[in-house]
Amino acid sequence: MYDLKSCVATEFINDAEIRETLAFADEHRNDRGMISAILDKARTCAGLTHREAILLLDCTDPELNERIYAEAMEIKQRFYGNRIVMFAPLYLSNYCVNGCTYCPYHMKNTHIARKKLTQEEIRAEVIALQDMGHKRLALETGEHPTMCPLDYVLESIDTIYSIHHKNGAIRRVNVNIAATTVENYTRLKNAGIGTYILFQETYNKKIYEEKHPTGPKSNYAYHTEAMDRAMEGGIDDVGCGVLFGLAPYRYDFVGLLMHAEHLEAAKGVGPHTISVPRIRRADDIDPLMFSEAIDDDTFAKIVAVLRLAVPYTGLIISTRESVKARERVLKLGVSQISGASRTSVGGYVSPEPEDENSSQFDVVDNRTLDEVVNWLMRLGHVPSFCTACYREGRTGDRFMSLVKSGQIVNCCQPNALMTLKEYLEDYASPETREIGEALIEKELQRIPNEKVRLIAAEHLFELHEGKRDFRF
Ligand code: SF4
Ligand code: SF4
Repeated sequence: MYDLKSCVATEFINDAEIRETLAFADEHRNDRGMISAILDKARTCAGLTHREAILLLDCTDPELNERIYAEAMEIKQRFYGNRIVMFAPLYLSNYCVNGCTYCPYHMKNTHIARKKLTQEEIRAEVIALQDMGHKRLALETGEHPTMCPLDYVLESIDTIYSIHHKNGAIRRVNVNIAATTVENYTRLKNAGIGTYILFQETYNKKIYEEKHPTGPKSNYAYHTEAMDRAMEGGIDDVGCGVLFGLAPYRYDFVGLLMHAEHLEAAKGVGPHTISVPRIRRADDIDPLMFSEAIDDDTFAKIVAVLRLAVPYTGLIISTRESVKARERVLKLGVSQISGASRTSVGGYVSPEPEDENSSQFDVVDNRTLDEVVNWLMRLGHVPSFCTACYREGRTGDRFMSLVKSGQIVNCCQPNALMTLKEYLEDYASPETREIGEALIEKELQRIPNEKVRLIAAEHLFELHEGKRDFRF
């Protein structure tokens, strides 16, 4: 039985409810009256239920689709303006005991290079990331009880936060590690992590079990209930996602929204972020073997409808996507992107020799961070290296209430400009700096609160004089 408040995986992600929802969408996908009413609701930023959202996703009427895209762009502007938060992944270890059929780190892969960074190697990686200008990381590891225990992850987080090279600092460490116990989530929380990220991969239990034939991750319920345990352990901000390409995308789209609805109903706060990765080529993984892979149009529609369905949730895309695909979805709702990513273990310090590949997937967007920042600004976006909320204790429901009241813009906009200014002063090429300085001057006027605007202007001047790390 479907019960969104239940903490049992098959009750809050209920197969019968998903199938009924999909049948409902089959029947009403181009019902103009219904879709117009849903779009009117979306405009109030009330969010959408999974039933409402799938109708929009399935709609094939070109005129209605134009309206869907226009509303998504409008909501993106209203909440996120033209700001895009930047981050980079940091792979600590690729030892893994699981058998995931879409990931080259699966245990049976004997030819991929297996690596685990020492604390000294982590130092070197972090310095390389700081020297690019990154301030926000997502830690990535495989699941391995002896090669990559939680103690190692916690020690690594301490190491990362302790490194201050020149003006560099990693100010927020998000963590993407395997589902674990409430006690371990509390330990992660106490280590000062930002968001705990765990992709569901697919919500379809049968397909999940096929794609995860062995290892602890093969337990659908334990994996699906992980966010409940994380929140029980005290983690306020969780990041969900599916890997599009494993199962029919409509099923996973509905499941993803049901998961968000469940967390909101049962824990009082929905996911902080949602990621939308698509299956990519990797060491022994051929994406052509995955018949459910989605095209760029479907991908863009998913982003647009998610923007309407969960207006307060950050949407993330990675360098798995091409420059063209990234450019398209930035307007429609994406609020965070990675830049200059290396998906190998130790890849920031030196590129790996060809016979020593440890990458989780092939990066499609290979540009440097300076090139990505330059590109974003030329498109009219403001790259932001902001990490302020978590450092100011604005997490979970405290964060959400600030976002829902619309007050967050008085923090996001000045913080984006001040962290961009730091980037320009410390790391940018002359051309990027020139574009950025003009952009900051223009964007400063968009801070709605006059007092905040004046303080931000003062801090921008102080940043130029050499001071660092201001935030609202
Ligand atoms: S997806 Fe994660 S758990 Fe699965 S094989 Fe890759 S690293 Fe291991
Ligand atoms: S102020 Fe908070 S919500 Fe806004 S960009 Fe910074 S960390 Fe994100």
